[in-house]
Amino acid sequence: MGKALIIGCGGVGSVAIHKCCQNSEVFTEICIASRTKSKCDELKKKLEGTTKTKITTAQVDADDVNALIELINREKPGVVLNLALPYQDLTIMDACLACKVHYVDTANYEPEDTAKFEYKWQWAYRERFEKAGITALLGSGFDPGVTGVFSAYALKHHFDEINYIDILDCNAGDHGYPFATNFNPEINIREVTAKGSYWENGEWIETEPMEIKRVYDFPEIGEKDMYLLHHEELESLALNIPGIKRIRFFMTFGQSYLTHLKCLENVGMTSIEPIEFEGKMIVPLQFLKAVLPDPSSLGPRTKGKTNIGCIFIGKKDGREKRYYLYNVCDHEQCYKEVGSQAVAYTTGVPAMIGAAMVLTGTWSKPGVYNIEEFDPDPFMEELNRWGLPWQESFDPKLVD
Ligand code: NDP
Repeated sequence: MGKALIIGCGGVGSVAIHKCCQNSEVFTEICIASRTKSKCDELKKKLEGTTKTKITTAQVDADDVNALIELINREKPGVVLNLALPYQDLTIMDACLACKVHYVDTANYEPEDTAKFEYKWQWAYRERFEKAGITALLGSGFDPGVTGVFSAYALKHHFDEINYIDILDCNAGDHGYPFATNFNPEINIREVTAKGSYWENGEWIETEPMEIKRVYDFPEIGEKDMYLLHHEELESLALNIPGIKRIRFFMTFGQSYLTHLKCLENVGMTSIEPIEFEGKMIVPLQFLKAVLPDPSSLGPRTKGKTNIGCIFIGKKDGREKRYYLYNVCDHEQCYKEVGSQAVAYTTGVPAMIGAAMVLTGTWSKPGVYNIEEFDPDPFMEELNRWGLPWQESFDPKLVD
């Protein structure tokens, strides 16, 4: 069918690349390009011979628009799948615009010097993408990503109006380390140490970090503590789901993780303000990242499951209705299949599906769109096919 250029070959990239190679009818060719080419070559070596997908690799600095343009012009992909870091979103979008190639990512842009992620920077590209006749699909991971697809699906098939959404992200995996993050530590710690917020009656309500705690009994996992966080899909869903009154996001954290995080924060290790150390400027959080376990090394050690989903409350035919859509994923099974733990798996699979939707033209709309703005049905089918089957409940326990 076509060729994808995949930028970034870390935890999420590795899963998406495995999945593209499984889906070789759609991805007849892929080019893996990243900062460290040897990682791309290693993966290519592992996958060649197991797939019909033709794999090439390249070195690229995704902060450099001209280098990206040169790479895209050379490789001529049908879609660029950005699995580098949120800092590179805008340079990669600029290069896609210059080359008139479709764009897909899993996380919204965040300037490196301010821990504030918002869609405004990427939404500002709307008109330019429309005029160029190309599609940008934003946030095609799990959350954001599948949570937006779930919301569009619930609205299409089960509600006349959705009034409340609670997104619940539970990772009950145990990797045996006292403290480690499940995806890029720098991005992860910036997210969880930020103030929390939720959207209610047309405005944002801000909370202190981890101020709101709830306990939820997750299907196939059991009771876990979870905390309200700000999360990027809240911003787009609040706009794109008509009738919404409140939308919140909760993530589970174990006590050991929280105690370590508090201590690291208290001593200044999570700061993104550069400091001078032995004559050199360093960012404490980047130094911390260097000493923490690499998330991609957690795969062989992690046991247990994740459960991520959305609880919807709204109206159907004039009556109140509740609906819970979720996916349960097993860390050890993911590792057996693609050599990664479930957090990378639950992000990499939807990234491959989003790229496939755009590459095949199933989703084709010039402009810049969040995932819930497309027809959810073909994506929901692909989730079942590629390893993230969803389950539903019409009588879920609610979060108070
Ligand atoms: P990793 O740090 O494991 O991987 C990032 C990759 O990008 C690495 O291969 C890195 O190269 C490469 N990279 C970084 N900077 C550059 C650059 N300037 N030029 C070229 N390549 C670069 O991160 P993850 O795989 O954990 O996360 C990837 C993305 O997925 C992030 O944006 C993250 O926010 C997002 N994510 C989304 C989720 C969702 O559900 N929506 C959930 C989890 C993550 P090198 O190997 O040299 O370091």
